Amino acid sequence: MTTTKSASIQGVTLLGATGSIGVSTLDVLARHPDRFRVVALTANTQVERLVEQCQRFRPEFAVMQDLAAARELEKRLRGERLAVAVLSGIEGLNTVATLPSVHTVMAAIVGAAGLLPALAATRAGKRVLLANKEPLVMSGHLFIEAARSSGAALLPVDSEHNAIFQCMPSGFRAGESRAEVRRIFLTGSGGPFRGWSQEALATATPEQACAHPNWVMGRKISVDSATLMNKGLELIEACWLFGVTPAHIEIVIHPQSVIHSLVEYRDGSVLAQLGHPDMRTPIAHALAWPERIDSGVRSLNLIDIAQLNFERPDPERFPCLRLAYQAAEAGGTAPAILNAANEVAVQAFLDRRIGFTGIPGVIEETLARLPASADVQLEAILVVDAQARKLADSFVAGKARRSQQEAG
Ligand code: NAD
Ligand code: MG
Repeated sequence: MTTTKSASIQGVTLLGATGSIGVSTLDVLARHPDRFRVVALTANTQVERLVEQCQRFRPEFAVMQDLAAARELEKRLRGERLAVAVLSGIEGLNTVATLPSVHTVMAAIVGAAGLLPALAATRAGKRVLLANKEPLVMSGHLFIEAARSSGAALLPVDSEHNAIFQCMPSGFRAGESRAEVRRIFLTGSGGPFRGWSQEALATATPEQACAHPNWVMGRKISVDSATLMNKGLELIEACWLFGVTPAHIEIVIHPQSVIHSLVEYRDGSVLAQLGHPDMRTPIAHALAWPERIDSGVRSLNLIDIAQLNFERPDPERFPCLRLAYQAAEAGGTAPAILNAANEVAVQAFLDRRIGFTGIPGVIEETLARLPASADVQLEAILVVDAQARKLADSFVAGKARRSQQEAG
């Protein structure tokens, strides 16, 4: 039987198209019009950027989470004479995450807001490219179970997890436990404040926190990289994806961000994945897996790099890492509480309501006040997420009040 080329073109929904991962994904997709077709693009409020993306990629659907922004988008697209159906809200996101014409869903919304559409795509048996790590931290078992029963392929895009996936035995599927894997080394750059003293950290600004030495990313993950909460979230993410416990994972600070993580086997072999710190590599890998496609990333020059360094993380200056370990060990709803409190604290820091060193305090107080439960069904996770946000908000308000009184 002969098949036409267009019959094999895969439809793609891009959740979070206007963000850092979204833009890198479009860059890779644009290199392969013979393989991929953009079916839907989504964003929160950035109308102008989504209009430009619709002009270039001509999707069938565009979704704005925000209703007013959706109306504005519809008006702008009509003005441009673009035949794009505009949807809004969580229903719109869920619709485009599960369309029959869609083969692959890139989950690149930031935070817990991406949980429901990513889960819907997994339940619908799509190829799900997971950049959005927070849903996995909150409810990893739901994703692993859903993928098992629907046959969805869950492919990690987070650079470390994509590296680990690439080093896993062939045929490995997310959530499996492999006896031949002895240990995982999860690498991290150490963030922009790696060498900073405790005193300097107390005065760190959002601008400094968002100026990452190796990666250009959205503001939330940039702050997480600066507090090392990103590595803590990644620890929990890795436990779900690779069927291991925190005891099997060693976090290693590797300032050059050239080795993206490593897997140690029981015979002593250690496999690593290396490359430029450019998200287009893991994105292209997950899009084409098990094949390989061009990503636009240049070749690695080992002579220029010359040195690769490794050090232990410092949980004294970066207490978020300790809190993440604590939540990972506690299990149940503890990681969801950790995640919600972190999202609130990071936003408060970005809004200059609390200082950088106030972030772990908000998370610690929330974890201490809200007991974790063993009920990890979706409803329970959503309830605990809302409760933790409310509590964390009140701790932020208290901190903001105290620092205003001190300043006054
Ligand atoms: P970003 O802030 O640059 O983009 C976020 C995207 O999500 C935007 O398109 C925005 O419109 C959309 N969005 C935000 N809030 C929303 C809401 N409430 N409802 C619907 N859509 C919403 O973030 P990013 O850096 O691209 O990161 C996206 C995800 O990927 C995060 O979970 C992050 O941890 C993960 N990740 C990012 C990188 C990176 O290099 N940027 C690397 C690894 C993992
Ligand atoms: Mg990462």
